[in-house]
Amino acid sequence: MSDPSATSSRWPKRYSVLFTLLGLLILVEVMTVFAVLASQRFATERALREYSHELLKNVVDETRENAVAYLRQAQDSVALASRVFEADLLDISDPGRLERFFLEQLRVIPQIDSLYYGDLSGNFVFSKRDPDAADDGFLTKIIRNDASADERVTLIYRDRHLTETARRLTPDDPFDPRDRPWYTRALNRHGEVWTQPYIFYTSQRPGLTVASAVWKPRDSNIGVVGADIELSAISEFLKTQRIGTSGAAFIVDRNGDVLAHPLDARLSAQEGDATLRLKKLSELDPITTQAGIHLERNFPDLLALDYSHYDKFALGEKSYLSMFVPLLKQDQNHWIMGVYAPEDELAQKIREGQRESIFLGVAMSLLVVTAAVLIGLIMLRPIHNLQRQASEDPLTGLLNRRSFDEIAAKQLMSAGRQQRPLSAIMVDIDHFKAINDAHGHGVGDEVLQAVARRIRRGLSAQDVLSRYGGEEFAVLLPDTSLTAGQLVAERLRHAVAESPIKTSAGEMNVTISLGVAERDGWTNGVTHLLERADHGLLAAKRDGRNRVVSAVGAAA
Ligand code: GH3
Ligand code: MG
Ligand code: MG
Repeated sequence: MSDPSATSSRWPKRYSVLFTLLGLLILVEVMTVFAVLASQRFATERALREYSHELLKNVVDETRENAVAYLRQAQDSVALASRVFEADLLDISDPGRLERFFLEQLRVIPQIDSLYYGDLSGNFVFSKRDPDAADDGFLTKIIRNDASADERVTLIYRDRHLTETARRLTPDDPFDPRDRPWYTRALNRHGEVWTQPYIFYTSQRPGLTVASAVWKPRDSNIGVVGADIELSAISEFLKTQRIGTSGAAFIVDRNGDVLAHPLDARLSAQEGDATLRLKKLSELDPITTQAGIHLERNFPDLLALDYSHYDKFALGEKSYLSMFVPLLKQDQNHWIMGVYAPEDELAQKIREGQRESIFLGVAMSLLVVTAAVLIGLIMLRPIHNLQRQASEDPLTGLLNRRSFDEIAAKQLMSAGRQQRPLSAIMVDIDHFKAINDAHGHGVGDEVLQAVARRIRRGLSAQDVLSRYGGEEFAVLLPDTSLTAGQLVAERLRHAVAESPIKTSAGEMNVTISLGVAERDGWTNGVTHLLERADHGLLAAKRDGRNRVVSAVGAAA
């Protein structure tokens, strides 16, 4: 490696095998990583969808269970009341006793807003939570149709300990339970009925009623007992359901009326003529509106929704997953629960895992590539060394004859193509055999090495120097004419002869003879060029050694 010009022209050849192998290795590695990431992405996308659906389903299941339990409380209270009345366990002709019975139940069952009983004569006892009372009080309306018109309707106000706080007569209250749908339907059916959600007469808030006819074998139907559930209570309940941080569950009726929504508990909209009605999904917040649009598109008739339906919709930049399920089918009611949550929120955990595994994958493949490069370098070292041994002379470190011929052939060809001059010098050490004979082979080697060094120093970087034979050197001088080549040869001759060479056997005066030739236009062959330089060399020996002879004369 002491020959920089040779080095520069040998590098690509020597390392081309290495680079090709490494390139292939890295390519395979990159392809593997991509394949793994792609398959993993596919797998996690599926896991993601399944996981998101699972989360939505969990919310739906829990909410459905709770909502149904909510309604069942009212159902049970009504059933209990009608059993008690039918079994004569309570004197239903005594409004005071009825009121007490209702209030006791309201106190322990928070899901019910009111309990009441109306009989065939239009007598009515109705107890409800008082929305205007400061301390969770109660309000009872008693209608006695056998009383005078002025005393027909009495309102009794009570605090939460059921102590009466006020009582007044409201003679102009026209209410008659026998006109109400819950009453007529329950009587006609002789059993339990559920109304569709409607706006309550007293509170002017949306809710629904479960009612049951009270039946005695002798008198057949004697009245109807009912319980009201305010829908706002279900909305309040939905508020407690956590669906990510910005998801929500809501309930719609089969005609698209919103029965419960955590963000809008009032749920009633005023019509132009001041009557109240329930809101539609499109009248709520933008996300619910969007969920509603999708629901309507998939199910123009909501009665058709009798299975779990998963959906996905976008609002602005955000994408949401939603799920709709039939919540309750009871009497006239066909309720549907919807749940939505931002996809990224549901997916966050899996996405984090995915990022982590991508990072791991990239790190792993970097590690593998690095290891492969190192292993490759180590494995290629013997080849590399063999290549070097094949092209280098071990004693002087110069190019050997074979690699010189290769390089020289290329240089000659390009010089011919580009019409540029190129010269060669053949060098031979004078009376070298005598050194060997006098001091031994080892000292001869030392002299060979020293001469090689001196010649190398006398050349420029682009010149190619080789040990061509025993004590012979060949030099290739690109872009050099014969005249310039003679000057170089003269410089080399001087560099060797100017001072004695130090060896283990003492100082020695060594000279060299040189023959120079320039490439001619007729042939580009290396052998031909070197033969002509060799002729010069022979002439130099003949002429007494330690001199330069150019091939012009010699070749002629
Ligand atoms: P001339 O001036 O005519 O060239 O005389 P010469 O003695 O140098 O010529 P000759 O070709 O007769 O001798 C060359 C010698 O170089 C013969 C060989 O033993 C010796 N030689 C060749 N290679 C090596 C080598 O690697 N090491 C040593 N020490 N000697 C070598
Ligand atoms: Mg010689
Ligand atoms: Mg010789």
